[in-house]
Amino acid sequence: MKVNTVIIGAGISGLSTANFLSKKTSDFIIIESSNRVGGTINSSKVDGYILENGPNTVLDNNSAIQELLSDLNITDKLIYPDLKKISSRYLLINNKLEKIPLTIIEFILTPILSIFSKIKIFSELLVPRHINDTDVESFIKRRFGKEFHDNLVVPFLTGIYADTTSKMSTKSTLKKMWELEQKHGSIIIGLIKEKNKNSRAKIFTINGGLSKITELLSKKFINQLMLNAKVSSIVKFNGSYKITLNEGDDIICKNIISTIPAYSLKDLVFDDKLKNILSNVNYNPIDVFHFGFDRDSLEIKIDGFGLLTKPQDEKSFLGVLFSSNIFEHVSDKKKFLITVLAGGDRQKDLYKESPKSLERQILSEILPLLRLKSGPEFKNHFRWPEGIPSYSMTVEKLKKGIEFFEENNKGFYIIGNYHLGVSVSDCIKNSKELIETRFK
Ligand SMILES: Cc1cc2nc3c(=O)[nH]c(=O)nc-3n(C[C@H](O)[C@H](O)[C@H](O)COP(=O)(O)OP(=O)(O)OC[C@H]3O[C@@H](n4cnc5c(N)ncnc54)[C@H](O)[C@@H]3O)c2cc1C
Repeated sequence: MKVNTVIIGAGISGLSTANFLSKKTSDFIIIESSNRVGGTINSSKVDGYILENGPNTVLDNNSAIQELLSDLNITDKLIYPDLKKISSRYLLINNKLEKIPLTIIEFILTPILSIFSKIKIFSELLVPRHINDTDVESFIKRRFGKEFHDNLVVPFLTGIYADTTSKMSTKSTLKKMWELEQKHGSIIIGLIKEKNKNSRAKIFTINGGLSKITELLSKKFINQLMLNAKVSSIVKFNGSYKITLNEGDDIICKNIISTIPAYSLKDLVFDDKLKNILSNVNYNPIDVFHFGFDRDSLEIKIDGFGLLTKPQDEKSFLGVLFSSNIFEHVSDKKKFLITVLAGGDRQKDLYKESPKSLERQILSEILPLLRLKSGPEFKNHFRWPEGIPSYSMTVEKLKKGIEFFEENNKGFYIIGNYHLGVSVSDCIKNSKELIETRFK
């Protein structure tokens, strides 16, 4: 078979690439190894609950998302949370839920930081800017102090990357803070000066779950999509590329767009240097538990977005999303759904436990914390052995290695969530950028 372009992977990166590419040409196919599209986007409806085993929300923060949703004609089908209902986010202090401060008064009164740390924050104005990228732990401790790092930044970043701050690149994971520091010499001054630019982006889902988006994309490209087709090798072939599938079929193409994870691509590429840098990308495992409760079993009203933990709390989970508060439609009005994330770099050992024993442990911790009178009437579990890629200090080297490979292998493009941003919105933005600016 001969085709101009092959997109490998039908997750959100691959499918949105197809969407933007289809505006230029129809001479492409999408190859997906599993029997479904969506990759990490994985919604299901079980016993009346809408469950998200992968991403729960998408950040509406760039024009590529708007364009994709409008191309699919679903802009009016999106569901946005009631911001007032989810404004509270909680941390644990002495095993009790404490609200993250949002106003100056709450900041002065919060027990999350000591008086010393609250005063120390203002000395950030005097700390010189960094010259080179540094790990998040050193960056935050230097600018805002240890307690700010341990009690606020660690739980927050664990909720997104499930990684350890001493291993994470500031430039890649705290992009906004890094840019403010570089531009203004101080994050506080930067925030004040750029106050008007920083309107908060909205989050959304869609009725039926985020998989609706990837299902609609797969319908749009039904004649160009191959499911159950795993790419097993790629070689250069007479100025083009030859892709071999597990079934033994060969495809000859001029362009390849890889959107698959680094651990898959490393086994396919013909270049040893690229193989080597892709092998160093680490992925953290994640367990996702859903628990549904009868509202009668809630002793107190649970408000807000959710709860995050830090290592000192010694809990078996990283965080809890109060899913029925974020999006009411995910459960019956008489029920309350929560989503619990466990694992990550911090809890790698817990991950080795059986899901049942981990579930027992998590419930024994969560029931008293949320003051639930009885256990869940609904349980669900999903395990991602290679869930979220690490944005370690070698990410810049990885990006350069990929750029070098692309320059030396015309028509071979590599995007994905392990070097250009992990969020669904980053994946969509990068697909559009590739097609509009680099793809020839
Ligand atoms: C538990 C969890 C929660 C998350 N929460 C959020 C959130 O709330 N908001 C947010 O924005 N982001 C979130 N993320 C991150 C986000 O979901 C992912 O980064 C994003 O969906 C990745 O999409 P992708 O298309 O780049 O890769 P993937 O989804 O990994 O898709 C790659 C596809 O390639 C296929 N493939 C692999 N190898 C081959 C091969 N050899 N041949 C053919 N096909 C192949 C795979 O089967 C897969 O379908 C979360 C991630 C996880 C794990």
